[in-house]
Amino acid sequence: MREKENPLRNQNHRFSPPERRRKKPLILRSGAEGGILKKSCFSTKMIKLLIVSILFSSGYSNVLPSSEISVVKRCITVLQYDPSDFSRRSSSGCDDVEIVSRERWGARTSKSIEPMQTPVPHLFIHHTAMRECNDFESCSKMMRAIQNFHMDDRGWDDIGYNYLIGGDGRVYMGRGWQRVGAHTYGFNRNGIAFSLMGDFSNKLPSEEMLNTTKKLIKCAENGNYVMSDYKLHGHRDAGCTACPGNTLYEHIKEWPYFEGGPLPGYSCRGKK
Ligand SMILES: [Zn+2]
Repeated sequence: MREKENPLRNQNHRFSPPERRRKKPLILRSGAEGGILKKSCFSTKMIKLLIVSILFSSGYSNVLPSSEISVVKRCITVLQYDPSDFSRRSSSGCDDVEIVSRERWGARTSKSIEPMQTPVPHLFIHHTAMRECNDFESCSKMMRAIQNFHMDDRGWDDIGYNYLIGGDGRVYMGRGWQRVGAHTYGFNRNGIAFSLMGDFSNKLPSEEMLNTTKKLIKCAENGNYVMSDYKLHGHRDAGCTACPGNTLYEHIKEWPYFEGGPLPGYSCRGKK
């Protein structure tokens, strides 16, 4: 049962869950951008394992222990990723949006990266429930503050969202398109999240922010990061939160592909 909306309860996404612990951290613990990810997979041991994996695929599987098979499989997946996707590239069909790279806003290095298979079936809209920003400097500063909060207070690997939209009309890169995020309980592995910077419980974001968000949704569609029949939701459709704020939520109900909740798995986590 949906709890009564209360904007205060959304402060700092109090009801967002901790990131689920992954089975086996994928290689990196430091210097976590894509290039380093690739280097790790190209270590001598990996090359050896990849060679053995060829034997494996040729029917000589008995020479390879099962634990190593899974490492090889994960590494092959990683090597198929374009490292620029983690840090630089916006995406094809995304030319009319300015995406501020992690380097430009001064991101810290991720503690760990977990690739996500795309396209995904869900796209979520959030708000940060924090102060708004209106230019590159103030939005970059806000990005660093949100990242610090998510990494230090929440203990997450990085800023939770995939992308954020600033009051300056720019898009700020969070985890990027193809990384598992920490944003929407139950949907971090099959959903992408955009967060509008500010509190939109009682006011709409500016026309510019809304237009940028719509363009970013187009990027997701054009880049094939979401399925052709994907669904757009507000964070509150998946869990017990007021996010993305009443006013913004009412607005996105009119956008294409919108589907209101509660989604399967919806819960108030201990609250009825
Ligand atoms: Zn949210």
